[in-house]
Amino acid sequence: MVPVIALVGRPNVGKSTLFNRLTKSRDALVANFPGLTRDRKYGEASHGSRRYIVIDTGGINGDEEGIDGPMAQQSMQAIDEADAVLLMLDSRAGLMPADEGLIKHLRSCSKPVFFVANKVDGVDAEVAKAEFYKTGAEHIYPLTATQGKGVRALMDDVLAKF
Ligand code: GDP
Ligand code: MG
Repeated sequence: MVPVIALVGRPNVGKSTLFNRLTKSRDALVANFPGLTRDRKYGEASHGSRRYIVIDTGGINGDEEGIDGPMAQQSMQAIDEADAVLLMLDSRAGLMPADEGLIKHLRSCSKPVFFVANKVDGVDAEVAKAEFYKTGAEHIYPLTATQGKGVRALMDDVLAKF
């Protein structure tokens, strides 16, 4: 089985940066501009000898469009297609209402969800994790997508599920 892993989260949390790192491509658009990746994007990746498919999404922006807007819709479809979901959170921003909306949706999906605290570079990782543990997550994976730090530990656990 080749597992399908969806990257979801608010715009600008670092989904495309992680996608590019996992797929070793520069295809996904990365920019400091919320909401740039509007369509779902699929890539092939491998971790050791394990192959998997990763889906990048535009993100869910709770403030402006809620769960019904076009970007949210394609995130929902990515979640539907996925065997596991990486919920990406921004350690610098902390927990936002849009994150909580998405977490609520994910709870109703009964898919494995991995909580990822991205952008832990330059912040106190323990403080960031403590904030995100408020969601009830069992484990928070600290990550610096721009440097690839934390990717191995995360993907070890994700792929161990399959
Ligand atoms: P997306 O909208 O979720 O796809 O976010 P992007 O991958 O486009 O990243 C948004 C911005 O955050 C870009 O400027 C990235 O370089 C930056 N970014 C992504 N990951 C990290 C990280 O681990 N640390 C820091 N400091 N910035 C990051
Ligand atoms: Mg993106």
